[in-house]
Amino acid sequence: MKTSFVVVLFTVIAEAVLAAQWYRGNLHMHSMWSDGNVFPENAVAWYRDNGYQFVCLSDHQILQTDTGAWLEVGSKRLSRAAADAYVKGHPASAEVKKENGKEYLRLKTVWELKKAFDDPAAFLMIPGHELNRVVAGMQVHMNAINVHATIPYRYGDTPAETFRRVEAAVRAWGDEQDVHTLFMLNHPTWPYFDIKPEVLIALPQIRFFEVCNADGGSVYPPHRSWYTMEKFWDIVNAFRVEDGYDPVFGTASDDTHNYTNPAGNARPGEGWVCVRSASLDAGALVQAMYRGDFYASTGVSLADVVFDEAAGTLRVKVNQEKDMTYTVRFTTTKAGFDRATETFDDPAKGKKPARTGIRYSDAIGKTVKIDTGVEASYTLEPDDLYVRATVISSKKAGPRTNNEPEYETAWTQPYGWRAWQARNPVKARLAPKK
Ligand SMILES: [Zn+2]
Ligand SMILES: [Zn+2]
Repeated sequence: MKTSFVVVLFTVIAEAVLAAQWYRGNLHMHSMWSDGNVFPENAVAWYRDNGYQFVCLSDHQILQTDTGAWLEVGSKRLSRAAADAYVKGHPASAEVKKENGKEYLRLKTVWELKKAFDDPAAFLMIPGHELNRVVAGMQVHMNAINVHATIPYRYGDTPAETFRRVEAAVRAWGDEQDVHTLFMLNHPTWPYFDIKPEVLIALPQIRFFEVCNADGGSVYPPHRSWYTMEKFWDIVNAFRVEDGYDPVFGTASDDTHNYTNPAGNARPGEGWVCVRSASLDAGALVQAMYRGDFYASTGVSLADVVFDEAAGTLRVKVNQEKDMTYTVRFTTTKAGFDRATETFDDPAKGKKPARTGIRYSDAIGKTVKIDTGVEASYTLEPDDLYVRATVISSKKAGPRTNNEPEYETAWTQPYGWRAWQARNPVKARLAPKK
């Protein structure tokens, strides 16, 4: 009895591991429910038809649940041409109403969209929405992912206090409903270094942020002393890991607003995540992301990312695209890194706002190894707080915004931090020296 139970359990686990596969998704996109330029059906269909398995249609401020959302044809949000094209494209489902000489089209709710698009084997819509406001002159944007109701915005006096309150609300909703929710801090450097690393250092409960938002990016050329997005990521994780907290994981997303103008910003298909999950299920995908079992990409596809806990070795394997070559850069920060910061003045220039810049030590986020080829590995040194890999293709990215790398790139999550923390308990490290 006991043996067979163990055998059955082992078989179940083995099957789950064997069945795990990569699912590609975009966690941040808009439709006519807010300021996206197409109907939600067109937005979701683009992703379904272009090699994605899941999306979160994250319109601003609201989950799309209102069954009475009618858009006036010929209004600023819906041109006559767009309305006609939609009705032609969706003859069976388009809902038109005429009232007082005006014509309206109804927006489908997220539940109606899920019914139309979800396919257990192939495609999933995860409900969610963006929350955004200006707080103390800074853009404070975040996504509530896998929530089944609108999470109202909660203001604090500062961006950090606002993030803290909204994250707590999203988590509380998930706990209450027994649903795995995901909170993501969006485009922290948009439009000009609005959210600083100290916010994420102070809020270790925030586990996800956009290391690449393919729409946003710094609108103005940054002062040379500012950090890059990767450096931002390493700053947060160096402090967090050394202080005994979990790191923040990095996502890439489109923040799609524009589905129709290939020359404009905020196009689809520029930044995504690939999540390794046993099933195409919102809860399973979210849990896999909490485990850090995903990577962010602007074009590079990874066949495998393996971390050998015992040996402390991170291995990555690339799905090679024809004629492309790859550079794999491993980045770590050593324990005991210099925590001092310097501020600098970054004055207003034209429309660019004035900021007090903050500069962190060069010891944070150091390249420790560069491999070329489709397979690469790095074994952590005992004083490495973590290691992560950046895989860069020889293929140039298409027309891009400031925030996207010049060449197609993938980013793994940081690995090895748990082992470092286990060897260096916080209490022992922070105890006064004798
Ligand atoms: Zn935003
Ligand atoms: Zn957005």
